Amino acid sequence: MASDSRIGLFGGTFDPVHYGHLRPAVEIAELFELSTLYLMPNHQPGHRGPTAASTDHRLEMLTMAVKDAPRLVVDTREAERNEPTYTIDTLKEIHHEQADATLVFFLGLDSFSAFDSWHEWEEILTLTNLVVLDRPGAEHSEFSQGLLARQQANCGRQIVNGRTGVIQTCQVTQLAISATDVRRRIASDLSVRFLLPDEVSEYIDANNLYRS
Ligand code: ATP
Repeated sequence: MASDSRIGLFGGTFDPVHYGHLRPAVEIAELFELSTLYLMPNHQPGHRGPTAASTDHRLEMLTMAVKDAPRLVVDTREAERNEPTYTIDTLKEIHHEQADATLVFFLGLDSFSAFDSWHEWEEILTLTNLVVLDRPGAEHSEFSQGLLARQQANCGRQIVNGRTGVIQTCQVTQLAISATDVRRRIASDLSVRFLLPDEVSEYIDANNLYRS
């Protein structure tokens, strides 16, 4: 791995993956000139209840969704953990494996607004930079507004190689799609066409996911 590599990390439940994940992923890989953007489905997210589809199904759907997308790679390390996953542990592992790489962790504004509830969030900022993606309907909390003002990439503080703790916001194409809404539509027997890749939709049908 070259010492100037810039690695992107994008975690989530991907239950199921939809275009609200995929389009921003393509845009940020280009915009931030990432060598790789790792999409990391978690097994049991530490901060929320059980997922609707199994880890294997979520992994399968995500893998088929990105199979032809340059630089987008599914990282299975969190999915393989048989206990609640914490971002800090994942970052420590990646940092250990690729000490010279600059890490950029991407998250939607809805997630960032509750970033103070993340396990060891302050330590997370010693290992990575954050890029906050705009998301329709999402708003800052008082905490996230303050943290952004303190750490944001102004006054020449940019995400450059070797740096950590910088927080940037990023305008991506706004798609008001959520996995909750996709699951709700499927359970109500409504179409999810054009909200997610056809292949994923066919997989959901074939495996009878999210029906109840
Ligand atoms: P759910 O509705 O089940 O909570 P979700 O659609 O928010 O799911 P997640 O897998 O929880 O999807 O999200 C993974 C990451 O992607 C989070 O950082 C989230 O903020 C971001 N994200 C999800 N959907 C969008 C979207 N439409 N636009 C921008 N970011 C998004």
